[in-house]
Amino acid sequence: MPHNRLVTRERLSEVRYEIRGELARRALELEAQGRPLIKLNIGNPGAFGFRAPEHLQQAIAQNLPGTDPYTHQQGLPAVREYIAAHYKKRGTPNATLERVFVGNGVSELIDISLRALLNPGDEVLIPSPDYPLWTAATILNDGKAVHYDCRPENGFLPDPAQVEALITPRTRALVIINPNNPSGAVYPRELLVQLVDVAARHGLLLMADEIYDGITYDDAAFQPLAPLAGDHPCISFGGLSKVHRACGWRVGWAVLSGEATRLGDYHHAMDLLGALRLCANVPGQFAVPAALSGPDTITPLCVDGGRLYETRRAVMDICAGSEHLDLVTPRGALYAFPAVVGAAAEGFDDHRFALELMEDEGVLVVPGSSFNVRYRNHFRVTLLPEASTMREVFRRIDALLGRYAES
Ligand code: PLP
Repeated sequence: MPHNRLVTRERLSEVRYEIRGELARRALELEAQGRPLIKLNIGNPGAFGFRAPEHLQQAIAQNLPGTDPYTHQQGLPAVREYIAAHYKKRGTPNATLERVFVGNGVSELIDISLRALLNPGDEVLIPSPDYPLWTAATILNDGKAVHYDCRPENGFLPDPAQVEALITPRTRALVIINPNNPSGAVYPRELLVQLVDVAARHGLLLMADEIYDGITYDDAAFQPLAPLAGDHPCISFGGLSKVHRACGWRVGWAVLSGEATRLGDYHHAMDLLGALRLCANVPGQFAVPAALSGPDTITPLCVDGGRLYETRRAVMDICAGSEHLDLVTPRGALYAFPAVVGAAAEGFDDHRFALELMEDEGVLVVPGSSFNVRYRNHFRVTLLPEASTMREVFRRIDALLGRYAES
């Protein structure tokens, strides 16, 4: 037998993406055995009965015959024009079609934007909790993820002074996820101004993951980062997956802003990396103009009586009435991130809890530590199911936590 040279990349051992990890694999085994499961691990609107708005579906259907060629690596010019106009309207400086990159979801663009930036050992400031792709993509692009705390006691908002204290000569970028997955935090304008100031004083690229930009509740107001960043380099991410409920179409975009001379070669690097993967999914691109110029179909779901609002309210009511759970009210995005407290929290291990909840109660959630936090007493659920399903889910969660509290 020849020596086997098939080995995987060493740094993969540092990479975690537990939203689709071991627990999700075990869920498939249980389902194959005929066990019905309620799976709340992925913010996948289509899995909970949502469809992309009709006018988006029609835009793709009507244009499908013309979608067989590759497009420009940054995306169809007409589509980028719509995205640029949308960002210009909300105050993004210098938003022109040349500065728009269309990708196969924001996921691909997060990877490309970090790959274009990082040299080995460069550091990226990432929130804790984070959407774990940010940490994974930083590691896989030979960078170092440095997490800044967004503590539950502070509404999951960061302290700009603490963020600044983490900056070293190797720090290259500051990632802000707003509205936040998994915490549901929506960053106030004044806080964003302070974070921009930190980035500007230290010359860091601002990376604004705003994929949930239209999903806020009650009086929370989304403030885009780029208008506050002004001339300072900023890359803002958005897409069709959440606000437009079309995550399977794999369409996202990134918009570069800031004064041209300060961007250096970054624009060229993004373009080159985009060219290496040829282009993004073309049929999906045709839905973008319809999405950005058509009616607002997300707000009705987020206000009193709307599906997301009612499910969120059910979770808030249940957590308020439970001796085992504490919830920082999610003010945006598609998730609740409750903490287990009291007697049930003694010796609590979020992974064991998630496994037992699935095996014993048929509910799949994501352990909080999957989001790069140091504490281990949280879990994440998506707010996409009906309120009635969520009540049943939390009845089962409470039952398991009640057993923990008694043992
Ligand atoms: N960023 C955040 C914060 C997310 O929650 C997600 C998906 O859940 C993504 C990016 C990736 O989205 P896309 O479907 O556009 O790749």
